[in-house]
Amino acid sequence: MKINIQKLSEGIHEVSEEISAEDLGLSQTVKTVGKLKLNAFVDKFEDSFRIKLNIIVDLIERCDKCLEEFNAEIDESGEQIYQVGEGDYTDDDIEVLPDNTREIDLSKLIIEVFLINRPIQKICREDCRGLCPDCGKNLNQTICSCKSERIDPRLEKLKSLIK
Ligand SMILES: [Zn+2]
Ligand SMILES: [Zn+2]
Repeated sequence: MKINIQKLSEGIHEVSEEISAEDLGLSQTVKTVGKLKLNAFVDKFEDSFRIKLNIIVDLIERCDKCLEEFNAEIDESGEQIYQVGEGDYTDDDIEVLPDNTREIDLSKLIIEVFLINRPIQKICREDCRGLCPDCGKNLNQTICSCKSERIDPRLEKLKSLIK
């Protein structure tokens, strides 16, 4: 997503665009359903551009506990101020662009907002039961007999006592 600033008037402008994960170089990092829906509010004041960016995208993630794929949605926002040419600003948060800049490339901001807000731990649902540590079966789908087998030795002792 690029914002052409050559003829941009003072004030707030809204720009929307859809971009694929491939175009952002994220196709190795994440599996998406459709494109990333981007919406940017550009607030121009002289040579500074405050950009508020919102990203909505549906992802296919793999659960850390049960290893099954599930759908997750990201709907997050971020903000960046760009300054064209050396201004009076000394704030580290402001990205300074060269004097002759014609368009602001938001790729870096998009990737930052996206990666910061993507959960580190991916869990398909709050009560995911994960995989059985003994047999590896998905305990959301089946109940394995491992737990009862763990109790079995005692029962077997009892059984032998009865005999
Ligand atoms: Zn799970
Ligand atoms: Zn098991």
